[in-house]
Amino acid sequence: MLNRIDLRDAPSSQGVIDRDLLPRAELDVEAALEKVRPICEDVRHRGTAALIEYARRFDRVEIERVRVPVADIRAALDTLDPAVRAALQESIRRARLVHRDQRRTDSTVRVVPGGTVTERWVPVERVGLYVPGGQAVYPSSVVMNVVPAQEAGVGSLALSSPPQREHGGLPHPTILAACALLGVDEVYAAGGAQAIAMFAYGTDECRPAQLVTGPGNVYVAAAKRLLKGRIGIDAEAGPTEIAILADDGAEPRHVAADLISQAEHDELAAAVLVTDSPRLAAAVEAEVRTQVAATKHQERVTAALTGRQSGIVLVDDIEHGLAVVDAYAAEHLEILTRDAATVAARVRNAGAVFVGPYAPVSLGDYAAGSNHVLPTGGCACHSSGLSVQSFLRGIHVVDYDRAALAEVAGHVVTLAEAEDLPAHGAAVKARFDWKVPDSK
Ligand code: NAD
Repeated sequence: MLNRIDLRDAPSSQGVIDRDLLPRAELDVEAALEKVRPICEDVRHRGTAALIEYARRFDRVEIERVRVPVADIRAALDTLDPAVRAALQESIRRARLVHRDQRRTDSTVRVVPGGTVTERWVPVERVGLYVPGGQAVYPSSVVMNVVPAQEAGVGSLALSSPPQREHGGLPHPTILAACALLGVDEVYAAGGAQAIAMFAYGTDECRPAQLVTGPGNVYVAAAKRLLKGRIGIDAEAGPTEIAILADDGAEPRHVAADLISQAEHDELAAAVLVTDSPRLAAAVEAEVRTQVAATKHQERVTAALTGRQSGIVLVDDIEHGLAVVDAYAAEHLEILTRDAATVAARVRNAGAVFVGPYAPVSLGDYAAGSNHVLPTGGCACHSSGLSVQSFLRGIHVVDYDRAALAEVAGHVVTLAEAEDLPAHGAAVKARFDWKVPDSK
């Protein structure tokens, strides 16, 4: 069922793995860009009317307005299954513990007597939080977006999720209930690229935001790429990925279950096993076949597992495996090897790392306390998952007195002249009656 890629004895140039050899979705965000461009322009010009039209076209539901009445958000909490409520509350509690610890404090460095640079951390004023709801609904993504934004001190939070036909054009009731639990009362029923455009441009119902965060499908990722600059974005958190680095000590039933758990998200989801054990590879293949036959979303899972983005990669040893998973830069990486913590400590590129047999990705999806909005498509080699930091900006505050400026004035003038920007130097000279003090 899974593709096999044998990298044993493959020539590598000084240990550098060719990323093109590894399984990855042909996720054409560039092609999706062409699809979402007119959608975003339309929302920019027609606002709510365009959002209503795209709800009809893409979500197959008639809606009259996009903003969800606060009474509907409260009603969703009243009818929430008590077990789901308890699970969400525990997820929120753990996420708060971890994200509260990420808060940053301002710091001041005294560069010279009379000269300081302070770094002030200031939250974004207003954010738009996207919560997916196409093939599956993600109340957990409400938690993962809202908790870090609140812990960062963001003043104004708006959240959007696709309208659901079975729920009268509202976002899924569990999503609304999660909003109520977290005290979020500005919610919109809009999905895909049009929701990102709503946050970027604003509409008569929704004030524009400075930043949009949250996961989504390829259209959401494309809209973020298109509107970046107009609005700030977190990483492109697209179709999910799991990579597992395992040796022959790993339990095939666990490996198979974890691969299937992420394949369940999306036909484009990627599930990759990297192992030095052909015996484990064969056992996992057999387990995958057995478990897929019994899983609920069989079609979606099979499409994801048989797609070119998924497969089993055979490597020479765990050292080689580490180079492969670093080159792949997975959104989620499980380490199921002997001495897993030591191996995990050597990983350079991953959105999140899960260590040993009792830290499956599902735990991180819901209730580890970590964030599940993570970079995909190899972006983990340069981007981080969502955190309090994503909602903050660091502002340098420069405070120098006359003596402190005098001490460095000569150097500033010299560098200004070296860059042929004499007016820069003149701005300093003007403060000393055009006689530049000697720099020490
Ligand atoms: P979604 O909310 O992202 O997308 C649904 C919307 O897509 C619809 O409302 C519709 O407006 C739009 N759409 C559908 N077909 C379209 C078309 N042909 N043209 C233009 N727009 C169209 O929900 P989803 O589809 O279920 O995708 C959720 C994704 O989020 C999955 O891929 C999942 O793996 C991913 N995810 C990622 C992370 C992460 O951190 N990386 C976390 C959770 C979920």
